[in-house]
Amino acid sequence: MQEELLYAVRQQSISELSASIAHEVRNPLTVVKGFLQLMKEDESKVKPEYYQLILSELNRAENIIHEYLTLAKPKLGDSSLIPVKECLTHIITLLNPYAFKEGVLFKELQTEDQEVFIHTNRSKFKQAIINFVKNAIEAATPGGQVEVSMQSKHKTIEIRIEDTGKGMNKEELAKVGTVYYSTKEKGTGLGTMVSIRLIEEMGGSVTYTSQPDKGTTVLIKLPKKLKDE
Ligand code: ADP
Ligand code: MG
Repeated sequence: MQEELLYAVRQQSISELSASIAHEVRNPLTVVKGFLQLMKEDESKVKPEYYQLILSELNRAENIIHEYLTLAKPKLGDSSLIPVKECLTHIITLLNPYAFKEGVLFKELQTEDQEVFIHTNRSKFKQAIINFVKNAIEAATPGGQVEVSMQSKHKTIEIRIEDTGKGMNKEELAKVGTVYYSTKEKGTGLGTMVSIRLIEEMGGSVTYTSQPDKGTTVLIKLPKKLKDE
């Protein structure tokens, strides 16, 4: 299964890649749009940090386009020490307006007090997690709930993205993460494929558990950066 997935990725043609660019760029743009709408509706809600968030999301969109255009594909690029808690909290803040717009209750990050670290590319890590969380919000809409949690294990970090959404049956579950599988009107079916591949390149794994009409949990395991390493 995993090998098939990688093979499919390598076989991507230019037209498939452009579909992928459109998809990946839509995420930061959705976030920016959400913030601008919020700011337009109620100026009293504008916080100075929103401008920085908007700028950094636009930068991300630009970077994604650049990456695809230069076809810098399988490599993760520059790695650094990533504080996972901080990064996840940031992602939740970014997607809050989107969850609000979709009528989904988006809970705060559930985790322990202590910060934990992974050693990887920050932008790719964010990109991967945002795809999973966005799918959770889209599945839970409207009236559902999404919760992101993180647990530090002995040598790994476990991130769970849980939604109380429409869930998936066995057949659907088998298709998630394969190229072009989408049940959405405007979906591209590329988001999970890209995310799973990124997490695997980081030495991690992704597992889906789901029940129709109950919801879905995505479990992401990543190697923890230990202090004495
Ligand atoms: P897209 O979001 O563009 O449809 P993705 O690759 O992100 O593409 O997701 C592929 C498909 O997998 C979705 O269309 C949906 O049917 C299913 N899926 C992914 N995540 C979830 C989830 N949390 N709950 C239910 N279905 C999901
Ligand atoms: Mg998606």
